[in-house]
Amino acid sequence: MQGCTRSKAASKRKTVCPFHNDKNPSMKVDKRLHCFVCQADGDTVDFASRL
Ligand SMILES: [Zn+2]
Repeated sequence: MQGCTRSKAASKRKTVCPFHNDKNPSMKVDKRLHCFVCQADGDTVDFASRL
């Protein structure tokens, strides 16, 4: 994990993963999305086509 930096909410966000029964936000939201629980990975277009 990355250490804490001055601006916590700058660019890294998380959301619940739509690909598994997610109770806590496990999906990193960036230019690409990545779930560290089920390893779903892709950009928003990938995900929209897979849902
Ligand atoms: Zn997931």
